[in-house]
Amino acid sequence: MFDSLQDRLQSAFKNLRGKGRLSEADIDATAREIRLALLDADVAVPVVRAFVGRIKERASGEEVSAALNPAQQVIKIVNEELIGILGGETRRIRFAKTPPTVIMLAGLQGAGKTTLAGKLARWLKEQGNSPLLVAADLQRPNAVNQLQVVGERAGVTVFAPEPGSTGAGDGGTEGTRSSGDPVQVARDGVAEARRSLHDVVIVDTAGRLGVDAELMQQASDIRDAVQPDEVLFVIDAMIGQDAVQVAQAFAEGVDFTGVVLSKLDGDARGGAALSIREVTGRPIMFASTGEQLTDFEVFHPDRMASRILD
Ligand code: GDP
Repeated sequence: MFDSLQDRLQSAFKNLRGKGRLSEADIDATAREIRLALLDADVAVPVVRAFVGRIKERASGEEVSAALNPAQQVIKIVNEELIGILGGETRRIRFAKTPPTVIMLAGLQGAGKTTLAGKLARWLKEQGNSPLLVAADLQRPNAVNQLQVVGERAGVTVFAPEPGSTGAGDGGTEGTRSSGDPVQVARDGVAEARRSLHDVVIVDTAGRLGVDAELMQQASDIRDAVQPDEVLFVIDAMIGQDAVQVAQAFAEGVDFTGVVLSKLDGDARGGAALSIREVTGRPIMFASTGEQLTDFEVFHPDRMASRILD
């Protein structure tokens, strides 16, 4: 992961090694290499500009000129600034004071939402919670079925509309009452969680291949209906800085509270990871790193920065 960025940053630092004092030319050369490394990693241009600006400013300042080992001090600064653009502190789920905590997932089709729903449910269960998965993605023919399979693997109950039923409240069996209207399914799912004492509800919603008004409206309607404690925007990290435009559209349309980077295992460059926090102002909360339910981790900005620099 991010191998090229890692190599490029190491080579940028190499020129500073062993120097007792850094000249302006040394700092400029290092800043230029860092800039090129980030651009090659597909980091969004404004993020690169701001990042390199901060590095240059700090590298020219007192903390480096007074340091016994200036090269080491520059690496420390880059590390701190990387942690900064990755979000600083680890952002954990904000649980509702009164259960159930409602977590809604949003994102484009194929981003990895349904897979993430299963991973998150499994992880929450492991933490001692009792999650309920709600299948409110009624767009893709197979989505409900896919969530049921994922739920079964995670050992977590799935609330889903009954196949073939025609509308909300049409008298189906308990737990399978709604279909057709995803907003109603989401609402019924949360009611079901309350009834059956699940303390977390994860609502999977529909995606489209591209951002469109209908998708945003539906996601926003679901949001209004279930008042989630967290809205997690799931984005495929492999699309690089294109993720930025998609994220901005979702930030405006659904106003998510956190980001999940999915398919980080296939992301060789790191552009999405390094851009998305700065551009959206929303924290990256989780990373999805493979197709198995266990390929999932809480996102720690400091650990990610270390992985990039070590
Ligand atoms: P959704 O349309 O957003 O619900 O996306 P899915 O959960 O159906 O995922 C789309 C495809 O990406 C599936 O083939 C998943 O197996 C795959 N996928 C999901 N998450 C990851 C991940 O973290 N890494 C990899 N390599 N594949 C993933």
